[in-house]
Amino acid sequence: MGFKKHLEKLVSYEAGKPIELVVRDYGIKPKGIIKLASNENPLGTSKKVQNTIKKEVKNAFRYPDDSMFELKNALAKKYNVESSNIIIGSGSDQIIEFIIQSIASKDSKILISSATFAMYEIYAKIAQAQIIKTKDGIHIADEFIEAYQKHKPDIIFLCVPNNPLGDCLDKAEVYRILDSISKDCLVVLDSAYGEFAAYRDKNKALNPSEIIKKYKNCIYLGTFSKLYGLGGLRVGFGIGESGVIKILHKLRPPFNITNISLKAALSALNDTKFIQKTLKNNLQEMKIYENFARKNNINFIESYTNFITFIFDKKVDSSSLCEFLLKKGVIIRDLKSYGLNAVRITIGKESQNKKVLKLITKFLKN
Ligand SMILES: *Cc1c(COP(=O)(O)O)cnc(C)c1O
Repeated sequence: MGFKKHLEKLVSYEAGKPIELVVRDYGIKPKGIIKLASNENPLGTSKKVQNTIKKEVKNAFRYPDDSMFELKNALAKKYNVESSNIIIGSGSDQIIEFIIQSIASKDSKILISSATFAMYEIYAKIAQAQIIKTKDGIHIADEFIEAYQKHKPDIIFLCVPNNPLGDCLDKAEVYRILDSISKDCLVVLDSAYGEFAAYRDKNKALNPSEIIKKYKNCIYLGTFSKLYGLGGLRVGFGIGESGVIKILHKLRPPFNITNISLKAALSALNDTKFIQKTLKNNLQEMKIYENFARKNNINFIESYTNFITFIFDKKVDSSSLCEFLLKKGVIIRDLKSYGLNAVRITIGKESQNKKVLKLITKFLKN
């Protein structure tokens, strides 16, 4: 059949291992499994949101409001922009897809850091665009500026904060990059963990309203999958100048968000208690992981997200550690596929983190 040749070589996204797989392969009961592999909210789905979902279930027979009026309005208010500045996607992932589809072809170039969210490269490859990577995995403004000047890419992805390393450019550095590039290059600010970064350090807080007024070639992405605990409902959003948003909407399939997801997202946005609790738990527990790493001479990058990445020297093999933990029912993310001898651990609840660190200590002793 006439499938496009370049798709044969394309390697799909490697998702965090699901709980079901560990149940099947290791015979561990689901209740005993700790999953800290996909940066989900360890506090689960808030009770308030669960109630909203229950109420909305009876409307499952209806198509959702395709204008997404309510959720767009709420987001517009929160971010001090107009509804016309917002697009909602089935996860922010889908908006990344729209962005690349709307610009990239065989002649295009896309600039990313050398260790960043894998979907940028996957969508770029589907579009057959050329991928250019900065030298370092962590984001360094000068590297992006230099690479921009040398290659003149059509799209730049800044992952702020960066998954899977946890590093985050300061707002001032983001502006410095934006000021150094021409307006015909689209800059995507993927802020899937932005709320965690802003909570830890004000210098990392990005203001989408200010950004899109100053830079019409910029789009800010957020998601309900991480802080808001709705990974399973697939809701993400993009904020940009209305002309940019209008183009992206042309690529959006009708009804790309279910009515249950729309209501749940709206409810999650308003559940400030749950949000504060999540942020507080995350930073508190993050410090425990950092102290553990320092004590055990494990290399780590200060993280502005809800995960921490441990980078090992030759004495420890990241895959062996992951395998060891899996057998004990703990799922974390091996970063070998990024070419790194490192693991990414989602910050869990206190009891979960205690267990994980105890097991890592045991592994390191052997
Ligand atoms: C999780 C994540 C996303 C997308 O999440 P969705 O569930 O598709 O909204 C986007 N970018 C980064 C960096 C992420 O880590």
